[in-house]
Parts: sequence; C-alpha cells; structure tokens
Amino acid sequence: MREKGLLIVLSGPSGVGKGTVRKEIFSQPDTAFEYSISMTTRKPRKGEIDGIDYFFKTRDEFEALIGQGKLLEYAEFVGNYYGTPVDYVRETLDAGKDVFLEIEVQGARQVRDKFPEGLFIFLAPPSLSELQSRIITRGTETEEVIQRRMQTAREEIELMDLYDYVVENDTVEAACNRINAIVVAEHCRRERV
Ligand code: 5GP
Repeated sequence: MREKGLLIVLSGPSGVGKGTVRKEIFSQPDTAFEYSISMTTRKPRKGEIDGIDYFFKTRDEFEALIGQGKLLEYAEFVGNYYGTPVDYVRETLDAGKDVFLEIEVQGARQVRDKFPEGLFIFLAPPSLSELQSRIITRGTETEEVIQRRMQTAREEIELMDLYDYVVENDTVEAACNRINAIVVAEHCRRERV
C-alpha cells in the first residue's frame, strides 16, 4: 500500500518542449498525477487563466512568498520569477498522490537538494546524443567551433547527470509514453517488499 506519493520533476533545456509534453500527459484521461500549478510574475498569455495555467503574481507578492518560505523552489527565467508552492506539494504527497512539476533546470536543482527521493526526468532534444558523438569523432570543424560545441555538450551532460532518467523528445507521443512507463516502473521498484 502506497503511503506517500512520488514527486515527479520534468525538466530540461529551454525550448526542448517540456510544456508541450506536460500538456499532452495531462490531456490523457487516465493520468493519475496531480499537476502542481506554479506561481509566476509573467503576464498571462492569451487564453491563460489564473489558477489553471499559473497563479499570476506581482513581483512584490512573489518576493513576499519567497520571504515567507512558501516556495519549494524558484528561479528567475527571462526576467520573470517562476516558483513551486511548497504547501500544495507536501500536502498532496502526504495524501499519497503523485505530484508532477514541469520546471526549468535551476529550479530542478533546488528540488533535488530538498527532495532527493524525487523522480528526476530530463527531457533532451533529439539531436543531442548524436551531436556529442559527432563532435568527438568527426574533427572537420575548426578547433574553436569544436571547443565551443564540446563546451555546450559538456554543460548539457553535466545537467543530465543530476537526473535519474533522460527522455529524448523525438515525438511528443513517444516522450509521454516513456515518462508514463518510467513512473510505473519507479513505483514497482520503490514499493516492493
Ligand atoms: P513559460 O513562461 O513559457 O510558461 O515558462 C518558462 C519556463 O519556466 C519553462 O521552462 C517552464 O518549465 C519554467 N517553469 C514553469 N513553472 C516553473 C516553476 O514553478 N519553477 C521553475 N523553476 N520553472 C518553472
């Protein structure tokens, strides 16, 4: 019998398609995870609803929440704050339900420090692993370009090392299937007696 839910953290580089994958997962009728709605100081985009897509806050309100310790993690991304409400996460996990966070990489690192027992999934662009092996084996680029690319690849690899799983986002459907399979497997692994 499950006592505490699993904290599932989906993260990855900017532009990799985390939001699209998350929306697809939550559009599936049998999804059993609870989505943790983030706080942000970003202005709502057309069609976004307060309390559904985000809790939209002013900078002052957000900074007050930081001061009160109300955020599990937060980060500044392209000039706006984004953060995860800690009470919702703790209460939902304590109720035995899985909580799903879709957050950028700085925030995921903070969650890893506070919740090392979480399940950390890195969504990777499909070309990354190919890029890595090409950089190493090809040798046709100028030295400077090779070095720059190697550095980028190293930074991505370092980030990936903090995660339990790397899921390639080749198609949204395949990425969602892998994430769902990982969660099922993880429950089986953790709940064996
Ligand atoms: P957007 O403005 O496109 O909705 O989101 C921008 C970025 O913020 C995305 O990479 C998204 O994953 C990330 N993000 C959304 N909510 C949170 C959060 O609560 N914490 C952190 N650290 N990042 C978040």
